[in-house]
Amino acid sequence: MGKVLMIGAGGVATVAAFKIVQNQDVFTEFMIASRRKEKCDELVKAIHDKGYKADIKTAQVDADDVEQLKQLFNSFKPELVINLALPYQDLTIMDACLACGCNYLDTANYEPKDEAHFEYSWQWAYKDKFEQAGLTAILGCGFDPGVSQAYTAYAAKHHFDEIHYLDIVDCNAGNHHKAFATNFNPEINIREITQKGLYYENGKWIETEPLVVHQDITYPNIGPRDSYLMHHEELESLVKNYPTIKRARFWMTFGQQYLTYLDCIQNLGMSRIDEIEYEAPLADGSGKTVKVNIVPLQFLKAVLPNPQDLGENYDGETSIGCRIRGIKDGKEQTYYIYNNCKHQDAYNETGMQGVSYTTGVPAMAGAMMFFKGLWRKPGVWNVEDFDPDPFLEVLNKQGLPWHEEFGGDLEL
Ligand code: NDP
Repeated sequence: MGKVLMIGAGGVATVAAFKIVQNQDVFTEFMIASRRKEKCDELVKAIHDKGYKADIKTAQVDADDVEQLKQLFNSFKPELVINLALPYQDLTIMDACLACGCNYLDTANYEPKDEAHFEYSWQWAYKDKFEQAGLTAILGCGFDPGVSQAYTAYAAKHHFDEIHYLDIVDCNAGNHHKAFATNFNPEINIREITQKGLYYENGKWIETEPLVVHQDITYPNIGPRDSYLMHHEELESLVKNYPTIKRARFWMTFGQQYLTYLDCIQNLGMSRIDEIEYEAPLADGSGKTVKVNIVPLQFLKAVLPNPQDLGENYDGETSIGCRIRGIKDGKEQTYYIYNNCKHQDAYNETGMQGVSYTTGVPAMAGAMMFFKGLWRKPGVWNVEDFDPDPFLEVLNKQGLPWHEEFGGDLEL
């Protein structure tokens, strides 16, 4: 029934693979393909070592190359391709899906390599093509983006006539016991958090300098944490889909040590994404050098801890949710919907930390919605375009239970 190809074999993909294998009644055939086949084979071994029986195929593919992707898709013939590589590959994978008649799902919006810029316009531009081909593309089906939009859609469907104020609040109160590490791909993460802040108010987008607006927000089971206003991609689709929204913001917690390191990285020029010339020693040991072009941030990624290795010593938990204010039956309503996820629980199940877990589980759940025919309509869609109920029901059963609070002192 469900023939699925997953691209990528990193932290998020590892979690999604475990979850796919736990749901083989839906996912009947499964292939993992990535830049390095050995990483796919290691992942399959990790799954088998945990005692799961599953026939998983693996393959090498460079997802920047549409022709290679087409060859792979034509030979395996997946019904759905789950893109858990990097945002740079979104468009090439979408092109190959269109060429080969495959449906598509990802967890992050397209970003050009030479410009850290977050908007859906590039992928929304594929809407007509997917519609004409009768194919479904589901964008941004991780936690945020992803579950944050399903939470908002659930609130709009069940608890509000009009949503007026939306704050997406993302706290990682975990400790990995490293001086500095990122929780997902370091290159993508540092590009994201060094961007200017952006929020929506009264029909306008308001830009702030990076990480200058912040306040304490109190998270369930965690307490108050300094939370920073950032631009996050799902705000763009949410204000479009819920035009009654007067203000929409996204907040993420950062510890002081993390911010001090980040500041140093930027001041040293190591967050640069342009190419610089570097005199590199030749690998033949001759002592001779050769001039090569490197991107400082990519070099930095090579020396930072791999987010996939953080799980073992990670304690604490994440808490991500939506705080919403609006109107129901003529009365003001305040509502909070959230999930808390413990890093050690995620590690024990999948060998990965909580941030990979909270992204990989929704990616699988979105794919499950597709195969069950519940989230299947030709075109390019964001998560809130679909019925949130069955998706949230699956999250409850698959390790990301959610909770609701009404009223109280939830306003930011
Ligand atoms: P990783 O870097 O751990 O994994 C990325 C994987 O993609 C790696 O296996 C990598 O190969 C592979 N890859 C990279 N380039 C190519 C290519 N050209 N062709 C084929 N494979 C390629 O990243 P994460 O798992 O941390 O993140 C995966 C995605 O999830 C990212 O897009 C990230 O933005 C997104 N994300 C979304 C979140 C959400 O809540 N929505 C939260 C966190 C992440 P190799 O192993 O060889 O490097």
